[in-house]
Amino acid sequence: MQISVPRLRPGRHVFRFQFSPDEYIEVEAGSALDFRSDVQVVATAHKMGMQLFVTTEAQATVAFECARCLEPFVLPVAATAGALYVPEETFDRAESRTHAIESESERVMYYRQGVVDLGEQVIESLALAAPQKPLCLEDCRGICPSCGQNLNEDACDCRPGEEFGRPFRRLLE
Ligand SMILES: [Zn+2]
Ligand SMILES: [Zn+2]
Repeated sequence: MQISVPRLRPGRHVFRFQFSPDEYIEVEAGSALDFRSDVQVVATAHKMGMQLFVTTEAQATVAFECARCLEPFVLPVAATAGALYVPEETFDRAESRTHAIESESERVMYYRQGVVDLGEQVIESLALAAPQKPLCLEDCRGICPSCGQNLNEDACDCRPGEEFGRPFRRLLE
């Protein structure tokens, strides 16, 4: 998922990529996600001089474990992100300060040898967009705290409230 900057004309360009997340296994955020599909990306790049501002819209299917019932399930995850890519070769400290001021809200990344690789931007955006507490169903009933029965599959004979009655009573006192 690379863009060769020197060959690109100034202005706006749209790229479509499809790639295997395995290629970016070294991206730390990527290892947090259990990908079950390729990643599809639409990248819009604006070239200004040797700088490239790239926004990405990415989506992929990811496997999760339900936070309530612990069953595995898959979910499509979509994410957008933007970053300004600056050539590392021409980068000096004075310039870096200018960028920091100009782009407080936007991320600045450095690229080498004329090649911008969008893998990190895309994988990290997906990791951020993934649910913190994934649920297999919005109203997943979870597992019974007494007997461990998956309550989505079947009811159990435990009396509801038995486990949670005491802490509530304490709050009411
Ligand atoms: Zn569940
Ligand atoms: Zn039970």
